[in-house]
Amino acid sequence: MSFWKTSSEATRQAARGRLSTIVRQNIDGLVATFYETFLRDEEASAFLSHTVVHERLSHSLRNWLLELIEADPYSDLDAFDKRQTKIGEIHARLKIPNHVVMEGASLLKTEIACKVAELDLDALSTAHTLILLDEIIDYAMRLMGAAYVSDTKRRVQTDEAFRFLSLGQDINLERETQRATLMEWSQSVLFSLLGHGKNSTPGYLAASPFGLWVRHRAALLFQGSPILTSIEKLIGEIDGEALRSIDGSQPASVAEFQRRIEEIKFLLNDLFQAAASLETGRDPLTRALNRRFLPSVLGREITLAKNAKTPLSVLMIDVDHFKAINDKYGHAVGDIVLRHTAELLLNAVRTSDFVFRYGGEEFLIVLVETDGTEASDIAERIREQLADQEVSVRDRDAVSVTASIGVATYEGHPDYEYLVDAADKALYRAKNEGRNRIVVGAAG
Ligand code: GH3
Ligand code: MG
Ligand code: MG
Repeated sequence: MSFWKTSSEATRQAARGRLSTIVRQNIDGLVATFYETFLRDEEASAFLSHTVVHERLSHSLRNWLLELIEADPYSDLDAFDKRQTKIGEIHARLKIPNHVVMEGASLLKTEIACKVAELDLDALSTAHTLILLDEIIDYAMRLMGAAYVSDTKRRVQTDEAFRFLSLGQDINLERETQRATLMEWSQSVLFSLLGHGKNSTPGYLAASPFGLWVRHRAALLFQGSPILTSIEKLIGEIDGEALRSIDGSQPASVAEFQRRIEEIKFLLNDLFQAAASLETGRDPLTRALNRRFLPSVLGREITLAKNAKTPLSVLMIDVDHFKAINDKYGHAVGDIVLRHTAELLLNAVRTSDFVFRYGGEEFLIVLVETDGTEASDIAERIREQLADQEVSVRDRDAVSVTASIGVATYEGHPDYEYLVDAADKALYRAKNEGRNRIVVGAAG
């Protein structure tokens, strides 16, 4: 922030002192004006109409403003930056359009600037105070905006990956096809070396069907995979030196070219294997859905519930004393118990519901179009079935297993984490109240 850097300490402190006094004295009015104006805006009010959001955001806005004005960007810039980034991520999660946030910021800026004008200071002091106000708010907005954009991008990518997988894409076929396109390209390079393809010199690997697949499809399917990065690096090397220096009369250069192709083949295999759970978006041990798709699914279901005014519930399930099962019978038996539990859960719900492996021995179920009463019934049925059925383990005694379940129902809050949190709190109570029971949480 340039003003902070170039102005003298005394000037800065004086300007900050004035802003701080104005904000503290007018905090209620500033927060109220912000909401009144926003509620008049159709798009913005859609995010603020829910009472919980209203209360929470009022509270957050208040704290944010106070902190903004009090923060010493010299001593505590890191913590300050982190908080702005976190707020940006929350906005992205709630899908509050960035321009609405920016509008809010300029509204606050104007309100505070008017109060500065009322102070009747000399021109220079007024200017200093206004510049500082501008800089602080713009700085926070830039950080928030950057976090908002990167978070939104990540979410869109996950949504896409999920859509892809739910279309039932056959990943084994994909692997074989890509292996074949890579071989086809390398064969054509070798053929042209031997003089068979003089008139059709193969282009770069990056421009071949395989290269295109890596850049477009694989980047989507295996987003963020370091293996993919290695493959891209090898493609670059091949298109750079390997292809240029390949010479039919020099076996070493051909061998070097082939080594790199082999390495890509090897990495391709790894890529698909490492993403085994991606095959269907499911966890390999339990076949429950991978947790990374929870934001896509819950975000979508909350929008559906809101628009169609249908109920929506969530169950958080945690196996009781699972550590003791592992300790007593071994990890392999623990795995069998987990598989048994997941299977029971998958059978207990409809095909339209979603069963996620949420953690080690925790599962989360999204019950679509299900109200609180129905959700409690389902939870109770699951609890009973689990407690009644012993898990038979080869050569051993049957193992009995119970679980505690937290139930939460959507009541209009647009943030899915709020719903998950409510289920989690209910689960915590179920554990505290003795386990092997269900607890219905407060409004989610
Ligand atoms: P509580 O009733 O409070 O839930 O107790 P708990 O023992 O179930 O909970 P805790 O969190 O103490 O222990 C969970 C254990 O689950 C610890 C971890 O080693 C084990 N675990 C996590 N994932 C797996 C897995 O995939 N397989 C096996 N066998 N064990 C796992
Ligand atoms: Mg647990
Ligand atoms: Mg447990």
